[in-house]
Amino acid sequence: MKIIVDFELCESNAICVDVAPEIFHINEEDELEVLLEAPEERLRSKVEESVRLCPRQAISVEE
Ligand code: SF4
Repeated sequence: MKIIVDFELCESNAICVDVAPEIFHINEEDELEVLLEAPEERLRSKVEESVRLCPRQAISVEE
């Protein structure tokens, strides 16, 4: 799977970072960074939860 973030929508509120810190990170400029653009299958539930909880619907997954 591949993670896609729409940075136009993202408001850097770090909800996805709380859910999946292995995948998402907020840098010193308060911008979201995707640490793992193609996470392993074992992280799928965290990815799905991040997608579900993002209040801006900025995260999507491509298979
Ligand atoms: S949860 Fe959504 S809006 Fe918040 S930092 Fe992550 S991608 Fe951006």
